[in-house]
Amino acid sequence: MTIDVPQEILDALTDVDMPRLPAEAVASEKVWLASIETPIYRAGCVVVGSGAAGLRAAVEMKRRGVDAVIVSQSAWGGTSACSGSDKQTLHTANTADQGDNYRAMARAIRSGGAMDEDTAYVEAVGSSRMMASLQFLGLPLPQDPLGGTLRYQTDHDEVGRATSCGPRTSRLMVKVLAEEAIRLGVPFYNQTTAVKMLTEGEGAERHVAGMLVMRAGDRTEENPLGIALFVSDVIVLAAGGPGELYRDSVYPNGCFGSLGLALEAGLELVNLTESQFGIGTRREGFPWNLSGTYVQAIPHIYSVDGEGAEHHFLAEYYRSTQELASNIFRKGYQWPFHATRMLDFGSSLVDLAIYRETVAGRRVFMDFNRNPLPVPGDLPFDLERLDEDVRLYLGKAGAGQETPIDRLKHMNPLAIELYRRYKIDIAEEPLEFAVNNQHMNGGIMVDTWGRTNLGGCYAVGEAAGTHGVTRPGGAALNAGQVFGTRVAEHIGGGGGAKRAAAGGVPAAAEAGIANLLSALRTESSLTVKAVRSAVQARMSEKAGIICDQGSVRQALIEARELNMQIRANGLAYGRAAEAVRAVQWRHMALASEAVLSALDFFIGQGGGSRGARAICDPSGELLPLASAGPLQAYRFRKESDAHREEQIVIRLEGDEIRLSTRPNRNLDESARSFFERDWPAWLTGCIYDRGGGE
Ligand SMILES: Cc1cc2nc3c(=O)[nH]c(=O)nc-3n(C[C@H](O)[C@H](O)[C@H](O)COP(=O)(O)OP(=O)(O)OC[C@H]3O[C@@H](n4cnc5c(N)ncnc54)[C@H](O)[C@@H]3O)c2cc1C
Repeated sequence: MTIDVPQEILDALTDVDMPRLPAEAVASEKVWLASIETPIYRAGCVVVGSGAAGLRAAVEMKRRGVDAVIVSQSAWGGTSACSGSDKQTLHTANTADQGDNYRAMARAIRSGGAMDEDTAYVEAVGSSRMMASLQFLGLPLPQDPLGGTLRYQTDHDEVGRATSCGPRTSRLMVKVLAEEAIRLGVPFYNQTTAVKMLTEGEGAERHVAGMLVMRAGDRTEENPLGIALFVSDVIVLAAGGPGELYRDSVYPNGCFGSLGLALEAGLELVNLTESQFGIGTRREGFPWNLSGTYVQAIPHIYSVDGEGAEHHFLAEYYRSTQELASNIFRKGYQWPFHATRMLDFGSSLVDLAIYRETVAGRRVFMDFNRNPLPVPGDLPFDLERLDEDVRLYLGKAGAGQETPIDRLKHMNPLAIELYRRYKIDIAEEPLEFAVNNQHMNGGIMVDTWGRTNLGGCYAVGEAAGTHGVTRPGGAALNAGQVFGTRVAEHIGGGGGAKRAAAGGVPAAAEAGIANLLSALRTESSLTVKAVRSAVQARMSEKAGIICDQGSVRQALIEARELNMQIRANGLAYGRAAEAVRAVQWRHMALASEAVLSALDFFIGQGGGSRGARAICDPSGELLPLASAGPLQAYRFRKESDAHREEQIVIRLEGDEIRLSTRPNRNLDESARSFFERDWPAWLTGCIYDRGGGE
């Protein structure tokens, strides 16, 4: 950026106000179920969640005449509204300044393996439309003077398909989509948490019948916990990712997702082994990724021990000041931890080093007022002594300033503004950070229309497990937009959801409420706090970036034991408001067992290191080196090529987690569309392939 950007422009991109929600519609009737006077709401389709993905689905459905309503735990909560990286990205097509090839883009999206080829193509080919429609709704994506969208390179992105409107891109997406939803008259039910899905039928005929929720607004003497029922034959799960699973997390507070709820409803999940971890500030303060320009400004990174002594720990890993500084820079677009990048003195050695400092009880900081200190015995830091790619980038960006803070101010002033909003002035004081969990690549298994294995139930956004082992930066937001639109097309094309569900109260409702209540026991010795700290500590310590077979197996045994205790004793709650948290923590404990089961299964099948995790093994083929010598304790297994071709499927049968594998779905890249031949399938709705689903 060569022009000084006025403060009010920076403010508008940083402080993003959300629209006022319309008044909520009242329940159509009240029915006594399991001794609770239960309000009944009816809808053609219930969307669970009001993040970018859920809002997109609701807006697109409403445009197609579907009677869609949104229920949300917190209307402007969740990851899209409350988090971001320094440049929250949208993965787009039309790049390299020459137009894009959607097949090439699809190959990039699925390059980490364990991803369906058709899904990757759906995301690629849908991306231009998503971007254009967001622009139509008012998303201020930056353009050049001739109308081209400005783009840059991000994680797992070789050609620069990312774009951004600054640190609040996804919040701005929520804003424009919410404004549109309100304009279209989509009913919102806020402070409404989905707690149990109701189904009818058996086997292949089993389908959605409604959703039990807990709503503060519906608490009465006859219904102290505010249990309500949404009757609907179609449900779109858009509840985001399971951010609360890990103690060390850069998700905003209160992200529970819907994995536990989905397992209980018999939904199949995939790829739960695959997540993203990377450096960021934790949710206890202000959760934010330290990617992009934060690290491209090349701050000094150091740790402080219990006695207050400072340690230049990265110097024990890299061989020269140039290598050290260049790898800090590369975390900008190689942000997620990746095991193989620990090799050859690559950029994930930075994550490993930080992780080890944290495990040793030291606190790690980034100081923007100091350039990296030299590696002992080597030359001092110099902008002219950086690896070629780094030197060229900083040169092109005009970032030749003396200090990291001045380089950051020059390249991305919003990055500094943002922390100031949360009372942290990185121009004045060093910033504490750590390696954190940031994204769940796996989730509910869906087909190319977002359908799950349960009739009438769809999943979109981070709730859906559409990503493989890696995903290009921005692909999460893009996938949510593409699949939000796809489910709307599918549901709208079916016609059934155009009117609110009529008929009686689903037969499963009474038993559903009774089951919910039986798991909530004021006298239980198991508290939400205890379950939360057990689950989060276990996941961060045993299922983080560094894993091994023994610890994962032990963690799984403990997770199973916890779920057995929860089944036997229920979870305690005090005030009514805590009851919903108790249900969510019951779901999280189950989700944690599912992730650990999948990891244990994967490692047991000879699974190697890929994506988020290094699977350490004394007989592993790969050994990361540090300047001080080989890091024997972190010798790790190589990824097996065969595992790239399949996905681990997880489901709950009774109280048991069951695991299996399925091959990735393929895409025939040689197939060509032919207008006259293919048009009738579109005209008649045959493209929706209604054989199995809704
Ligand atoms: C720090 C950080 C940086 C990121 N940077 C990027 C990036 O640059 N590019 C990118 O593509 N992705 C990025 N991601 C990931 C991306 O932001 C998320 O995957 C995406 O925003 C998820 O959108 P969503 O609509 O699926 O879920 P969310 O935005 O999380 O919304 C979930 C919604 O569901 C509601 N909800 C949850 N549970 C329930 C329930 N039981 N009942 C009712 N409502 C419920 C919540 O209140 C919320 O409204 C980042 C994530 C983090 C944490």
